[in-house]
Amino acid sequence: MKTPIIIAGPCSVESEEQILATAQGLARIPEVTLLRGGIWKPRTRPEAFEGRGEEGLKWLLEAKRQTRLPIVTEVATPEHVELALKYEIDALWIGARTVVNPFSVQQLADALKDVDIPVFIKNPVSPDLNLWLGAFERFQKAGLTQLAAIHRGFSYYKESPYRNYPMWEIPIELKRRLDVPVITDISHICGNRTLLRDVAQKSIDLAFDGLMVECHHDPDQALTDAHQQITPVALAELLQSLSPRSSQADESDPVLAALRSEIDDIDDELLQLLARRMNVSGQIGEYKRERGLTVVQMDRWKQILSDHLETGSDLGLSKELIEKVFEAIHQASIKRQL
Ligand code: PEP
Ligand code: MN
Repeated sequence: MKTPIIIAGPCSVESEEQILATAQGLARIPEVTLLRGGIWKPRTRPEAFEGRGEEGLKWLLEAKRQTRLPIVTEVATPEHVELALKYEIDALWIGARTVVNPFSVQQLADALKDVDIPVFIKNPVSPDLNLWLGAFERFQKAGLTQLAAIHRGFSYYKESPYRNYPMWEIPIELKRRLDVPVITDISHICGNRTLLRDVAQKSIDLAFDGLMVECHHDPDQALTDAHQQITPVALAELLQSLSPRSSQADESDPVLAALRSEIDDIDDELLQLLARRMNVSGQIGEYKRERGLTVVQMDRWKQILSDHLETGSDLGLSKELIEKVFEAIHQASIKRQL
């Protein structure tokens, strides 16, 4: 199993004392790979603390000198890039609010053209895989070769226990398409301290490549994201509590091989059934056209979905799965009938 990348440090660099105390605590944890510290903070409201700027970079560099931990910060403009490099930053991350804007991403890629520094690209705030992929393409075109992703969850209109909904399928698909390391920012997904461990374990179970965790020597006093930051000691405990998993399945394991073959057979049956269903859909479409009937008959669709939800629930299937599957099937069916 590859050693996970653990990025830890405060949401914001607030003072020299704060970053040094936090960094010293983190330097005692052997798993910690990189020290993070926000220097320019993208805030929702203008009165909020927006980071210490250049002065903070001097303190971050001092923390690097004292602890020997490499340092990483967020950049959103070419000026940030220039200053961060001046203060010997080892890696950069692009924030979720910046990744939504292709103009900003291009400016950053241009600013980094001759500097092949590691760049971590957070997912955009909105669940838009193409926007995330596009950011990777802009940096790749600029010649950057040390790229990784940070999964920090997505804004979501439904109520959820998370600050940013994980939607794991999106980073999994990114990893499939790009084959880059994906780090899970458990702090911004959770928005609180209680869920951190579960989300970290899930990230390991899904074979992601590391964690980003906001740590502060005195979290309750933090100027930003106080609810989700933890002490370095709490981080050490959290890391200890995680169970490792191997992402390399043993090809010769007969139990796994038998179960996989069963899944392959079931998938095959599912595909045959889907093809049959679409075929019947086409016939219904033809029939409705001849008789001047509308393609969508809302009452019938509502009835079908509610029946399936009931049957699904009896079978122990989640509402989310049934809705997703049948909404996708229904949409494909409508297309076939138009
Ligand atoms: C951060 O890491 O402090 C931050 C601002 O994150 P995000 O861009 O994910 O909101
Ligand atoms: Mn934060």
